[in-house]
Parts: sequence; C-alpha cells; structure tokens
Amino acid sequence: MANFYLDNPSLKHQWEHPLMKRIVELKERNFADAKTYDYAPVDLEDAIDSYDKVMEIAGEICGEVVAPNAEGVDAQGPKVVNNRVVYAPGTTENLKATVQAGLMGLSMPRRYDGLNFPMVAFIMASDIAARADAGFCNLWALQDCAETLYEFGNEEQRQKFIPQMCAGATMSMDLTEPDAGSDLQAVMLKATEDPENGCWRLNGVKRFITNGDSDIHLVLARSEDGTKDGRGLSMFIYDKRDGGVDVRRIENKMGIKGSATCELTYKNAKAQLCGQRKLGLIRYVMSLMNGARLGIMAQATGLSEAAYREALAYAKERRQFGKAIIEFPAVYEMVSNIKAKLDASRAILYETARFVDIYKILEDIEHERKLEPEEKEELKKYKKLADAFTPLGKAMNTEYANQTTYDCIQVHGGSGFMKDYTCERLYRDARITNIYEGTTQLQVVAAIRHVLTGTYLAQIKDYQAEALRPELDGLKARLAKLVEIYEQIVPTVADTKDNEYIDFQARRLVECAGHIVLGYLLLSDANRHYEEYIRSAEVYIQYAEGEINKIQHFINHFPIENLGYYKQQA
Ligand SMILES: Cc1cc2nc3c(=O)[nH]c(=O)nc-3n(C[C@H](O)[C@H](O)[C@H](O)COP(=O)(O)OP(=O)(O)OC[C@H]3O[C@@H](n4cnc5c(N)ncnc54)[C@H](O)[C@@H]3O)c2cc1C
Repeated sequence: MANFYLDNPSLKHQWEHPLMKRIVELKERNFADAKTYDYAPVDLEDAIDSYDKVMEIAGEICGEVVAPNAEGVDAQGPKVVNNRVVYAPGTTENLKATVQAGLMGLSMPRRYDGLNFPMVAFIMASDIAARADAGFCNLWALQDCAETLYEFGNEEQRQKFIPQMCAGATMSMDLTEPDAGSDLQAVMLKATEDPENGCWRLNGVKRFITNGDSDIHLVLARSEDGTKDGRGLSMFIYDKRDGGVDVRRIENKMGIKGSATCELTYKNAKAQLCGQRKLGLIRYVMSLMNGARLGIMAQATGLSEAAYREALAYAKERRQFGKAIIEFPAVYEMVSNIKAKLDASRAILYETARFVDIYKILEDIEHERKLEPEEKEELKKYKKLADAFTPLGKAMNTEYANQTTYDCIQVHGGSGFMKDYTCERLYRDARITNIYEGTTQLQVVAAIRHVLTGTYLAQIKDYQAEALRPELDGLKARLAKLVEIYEQIVPTVADTKDNEYIDFQARRLVECAGHIVLGYLLLSDANRHYEEYIRSAEVYIQYAEGEINKIQHFINHFPIENLGYYKQQA
C-alpha cells in the first residue's frame, strides 16, 4: 500500500524538533482540553502520537486515492454547468475520502469540531497532498481560510461557519479582480450596507478565484464610498446558500488543471462583515495571505518531493551507452541538486511553520488571559521571524519547485516531454507556485525590509551559535564565509540610499539571505540526523557558494549609473 507519510522519514523528523515541545504545550494549553475531550492528548508524547496517526491516514489517502486519480483529473478538469462548478470525478472522490477521514479542520479548536493540530501538522498534510496532486492540494488546503475566520470573525460567525468547514464545506478567498492583482489596494468590488435586512450587499467581479464555487467565501470589497486605496476595503463572508454569486467561466490553465480557477460575478450577493470595517486589506487579508503563502511553500515542497522521486527512479532504470544514466556525472549532479533543494525547501517550510505556530497560538491565548512579560517577548520574536521567513521561504521554495521539476524533465530526456510521464504534469503544476499568493517579485518586496533591518542576519547569528557535532565544522566554516560576503554586499547596496537601485538589487540580496538560512537549517538537520542530511548539506552549501559568489560579483561590479542601460533596454 502506498503511504506518502510512512515512506518519507523527513516528515516524521519534524516532530523531533526542539520547538515542538513548546508548540504542543501552548496549543494544548498545558493539556487542559484532556479534561473535556476524551480524544485530547494528555502529554507531549500523546499529542505527537495523534499527529503521527492522522498523518498516516493522510499519507494513505494521498498514496492510494489522490495520486492514482491525478492523471485523470489533470486530463478532465472541472466544468461549469449552469453557473456552477462540476469537478472531475477523481476530484470528487478525493474530497470525499479526505472529508470522511476527518482531514478537514485540522488546526481548528476542538470546540468547533476541529482537531486542534498545530500549523506544522496542517502544513505537513499539504506537503503530502501536493506530492500526490498539487491541484487537489489547493482545494483541500483552502480550509486554511478558516484560520482567518477564527482569528477575526465574531463568536456567532465562528460557531456558524467553522463546524461546517470541519464537516467538509469548502472555502475560497476572493481577492483578485481584473485591475487588482499584485496591487490589491485597487480592489473595486462594491460592498453596500443593507440595514433593512441586517446585512451587506456585494456587487462586481472577481477573477482567478481558486475553488470559486466554494461553500464559504472570504471576500475583499470596497465598503467606503469614494475611497481608492486599501483603507477603504473590508472583509466579508459570503455563504453560497444565500445565492447571488455566479461562476461566469473557468480559466483554461497550463497546470493545476484539476483546480477550478473561476471568474465570479456578484449580483447583490448577501454577505456579512468579518471583523472591523476598513481593516480588510491592511490587517485581515495580509494575515490570510501569509497563511496561504505558507501553504504554497508546502505545495512547492511536495512538488519537489515528487520531482525527486520521479527523477531518481527514471535515472536508475534508463540505460544508455551500456549503463544506467544515473552513473553519468551530468545526471547524478542534477538528481543530487534536486534532492538538496528539496531538503532545503522542507527545512525552511517547517521552520517557518514553527515560528507561525508559536506567535499565532500566543495571540490566541492573549484573548483568553493576559500574557506574562516573557510570553509577550516570545510572541514579538516569533511574529517578526514569521513575517521575515514567510516571503523568503515562499520565494525560495517556489523557485526551487520550478527548477526541480524542470530538471526532472531533463533527466527523462525526450520521454519527459511526453504526457506518458508524471514529470510533465509536475512541471506545469509548479509553474504557478511562484506567481500566485504574490509573485516572487512581491515576496522580494516584503523580504528586502528584513535584509535592510537585519532580521535575517540576527537569526543567522543565532544559527551560527548553535552547537553542532564536530563532523560539521568544515561546512559551518564555509557558511561563515558566505555570511561575511552577505555582510559586505548588504551595506554596499543599502548605503547608496537610492531606492530604485536598492529595488534593482533586492532579489539578489534576498536570495543571498535565503541560501545562507537554508544552509544553516540543513546543518541543523544534519546535526540531528547525520546520515540522512549530510549529503544534502554538502551539495546545497556547494551550490550556495557558487550562487553567492555570482551575486557578490554582480553587485561589486555594478556601477549605479548602469541602471540606465536596463531602463532604456526595457
Ligand atoms: C491559477 C491561479 C489561481 C489563483 N487563485 C487565486 C485565489 O484563489 N484568490 C485570489 O484572490 N487570487 C488568485 N489568483 C490571483 C493571483 O494571486 C494573481 O494572479 C497574482 O497575485 C499576480 O497578480 P496579476 O496576475 O494581476 O499580475 P500583475 O500584478 O499584473 O503582475 C505582473 C508582473 O508585474 C510584477 N509586479 C507587479 N507589481 C510589482 C512590484 N510592485 N514590484 C515588482 N514587480 C511587480 C509581477 O511580479 C509580475 O511579474 C490566482 C491566479 C492564478 C493564475
């Protein structure tokens, strides 16, 4: 029986991370729930055991149902019938299996019928699902919208919608419009108060909405007449049973074909305000998108996992010039780089999820009681780290998913170009990951702040201070040299105080921070599980040295006046 959790030890390793103890203690409020719910864990071991068991179920469903359906779903895709989405039979079967197995509402509190799992567990399920079918992963992982509803909705809204979602109701986040993509401040869908009926009415168009015919929508709309920027936007909940939203069409896409990307028309659709007016974009959608970005990091990691497995299996099996192609340096280098990028992606994915867990749970606890001063400090520290690591990880992992799936096709040669092999679908599916939930360029816009204010460097110094086994001394010293380069190029760019020039070099600086962070995370993995991670640490750090030297050369040999050539050329 295929099980995508049990066959992948790098997932189980995540439970052993030292921060898991703190995450579980906080999430379980020192195991107070055990008095009310007989299925709530009584201690750390019990909690990890319950995550392990549920991941085993997720692994089995993904291995036995979702992955075998992926090819058919990719070929058939969803359809629009009478303004409603009809999914491919394989998608319906996948959804039924996940709902029946209780895999909806993983992170929601028990009082709303959820499992009260930390983000690390939810992200792991997404990682597993994306390996099976990245398109289905979208549909399933949109349950993450419930986090935002839980965080900012009122008690009545929580009680109404969260148990529905835990029972299988699907969700969507309706943000993008034809003229509002990266710049969501330009959203124009109109929200008007309807005091007679005690609700709001939504009118306008949304486009590119994943699972746009969902049961529960979170919608960004302009509630303040006459405004043009983000301060005039609020967030609303639309319940499909109230009617008023039609699916005008489904996009004909390059990849994730099983996932319905919809254009929606809102005609006087009844909706309720979620949270306060005017905070829709500034606060709620920012939080919603950060959660979704973590989900896309997981999707990219799952795709790289699939790419590695496909590339390795083919390279071992395919023979040319009298031997298996994996014996050629050009081929084993590609496969090794795929594996190193995969392990590096997974390392930052779970590191970010741990940071998110700690600060989000502390914020939740703050609604129940006053935090102790040291808890307040902890919240501040991890919130900042989550803010810094989310765009960094989204940018690195999604670019890597594009590279790993590209190389996977290359390993397959001409066969990789054919529909007969899975790698062709993986490559198409990966292409969207560095576009939606904010393009890589927009992740860089968010991450450069943390380069310039030193968030990454401070965290890198913390990683440097970690005691590691002596076998890793050589790699640690090589990483320290890369940190020296980083400390040279950041001020070289920042000291110009020229914003256009800083924007121009921003991606290089962010990537440099990314390579170093990923290098240290792999060292930390190798410190705990030497045999499993030492090769990825070696290969990745070798790769990072090449990339960072290139970046340093570019920056040190780029007179600011040269910007003009680029501007004129474009
Ligand atoms: C398959 C799919 C599913 C989607 N699902 C959803 C969904 O569920 N909900 C939803 O609301 N939206 C969804 N989207 C929309 C998606 O988030 C946007 O497409 C994406 O954010 C980019 O916006 P855009 O397409 O308008 O591109 P644009 O914003 O027009 O960007 C075009 C180019 O300009 C660059 N650019 C723009 N601004 C800047 C800047 N300030 N600095 C540097 N470069 C910049 C971009 O990086 C990009 O290269 C989905 C899109 C797709 C394709």
